[in-house]
Amino acid sequence: MHYMNYFRFKSLLQKDGWLSPAYVGVDDDGIIRYLSQESPAEVAATESILGFALPGFQNAHSHAFQYAMAGLAETHTIGTTDDFWTWREAMYQCALSVNPDQAEAIAAMLYAEMVRHGYTQVAEFHYLHHDKEGKPYSHRAEMGERMVAAAKTAGIKITLVPVFYQRANFGIDFNPRQRRFISKATEEYFKLLEASAKATKAYDHASLGFSVHSLRAVDLTEVITTFNQGPKDLPFHLHVSEQKKEVTDCLAYCNRRPMQWLLENLPVNERFHLVHSTHLDDHELQQLAKSGANVVLCPSTEGNLGDGIFRMKEYVKLKGHWSIGTDSHIGLNPLEEFRMIDYRQRLVTNQRNTFEGDAATYLVNEEIISGRKAMGIQQQEHFAVGQSFDAVIFNSESHLVANTSEQNRLATLIYTSDSSRVMGTIISGKWIVKNQHHRAGHEIKTKFNTAMRELKTR
Ligand SMILES: [Zn+2]
Repeated sequence: MHYMNYFRFKSLLQKDGWLSPAYVGVDDDGIIRYLSQESPAEVAATESILGFALPGFQNAHSHAFQYAMAGLAETHTIGTTDDFWTWREAMYQCALSVNPDQAEAIAAMLYAEMVRHGYTQVAEFHYLHHDKEGKPYSHRAEMGERMVAAAKTAGIKITLVPVFYQRANFGIDFNPRQRRFISKATEEYFKLLEASAKATKAYDHASLGFSVHSLRAVDLTEVITTFNQGPKDLPFHLHVSEQKKEVTDCLAYCNRRPMQWLLENLPVNERFHLVHSTHLDDHELQQLAKSGANVVLCPSTEGNLGDGIFRMKEYVKLKGHWSIGTDSHIGLNPLEEFRMIDYRQRLVTNQRNTFEGDAATYLVNEEIISGRKAMGIQQQEHFAVGQSFDAVIFNSESHLVANTSEQNRLATLIYTSDSSRVMGTIISGKWIVKNQHHRAGHEIKTKFNTAMRELKTR
């Protein structure tokens, strides 16, 4: 008999609505063993919570080190153009300066903040592989291992996605400022992937994905080889069509737009997680939706970098799938990402109904199911017996939701809440953050402060 721990929530969100009240029994591995409106028959201590439990949000795209420069690239010289490409220079500066201890401290702080906002798993799109001179560490996956260690400290689940990065642009050798990212060829990348797979063994809640950075960063024939010779059971991530310049560069190089090339040359399907996919023509949008692939939208970062607006309203009509990521981490609130996804469509169409029917239910259901796929998890139910208990709990007593019908509850939570409405986050059946307080918050912040003092970039 497992030791069981019971929670009673005022309500718990399933795909088709609320379970009220909700009793959840969790074993010592964090697996749900009991889920019902009825209290359990066995006499057990139950933690009663005045809260609404939602499934933990999935953060499908992160570059952890970039958190160290969040807010530092917002001063613009008068009379000059500032765009993605100048931001990228600032980002390289940041990437060149962090050592493994600092990278781990930054990631732990970031991941703790993600948990505070209700994310319970992150896909770390990891390309900061080598030492400052660009030489592999004696332990090849040193930096990836640090990401796993940071996730363990922060209590978040992690899918480590080691990235194959080879070039500066289509047909152009890498820039020395990218030296920490580079694998010279597919075989070298596979060695890194193998070492990274070992690194994930250090934490029960770490898993692996694989990736090429983008079509501009890896030779096109090697993009094909990497996918075809790569693991058959892992999610495959890459950036596609983030910037207009990337589209024109790709056209000039191979007479194909990036998404067009991808759809013609790889068996794009639901294993693919295509980050941004901002600049698509009609045909690409239709084919993409038909392929079953998932777009990873990063609205705060895309807005911050001036990327452009994904054609969401049309894509949803075509039944396309998508998840969210916080990418550069300029914003960490999943509710803001949802609202930006919706509002940027409202602003460009002058209409309010981006999604037909209940927008909040659609947003949450799609983000959870497709976001989990980005982690390699195929679970379809928000909560079910046999699944790990990962949840974000919203305060049920705050003034608006306390006076709202069940029918309007989720929309009120998603469209009106700020992070102060989050009561806490439970991962594998344990409170990791409660009342805004992270269980390892002091240690995490102390190490982060040390890293920032050493780096002197802020
Ligand atoms: Zn990215």
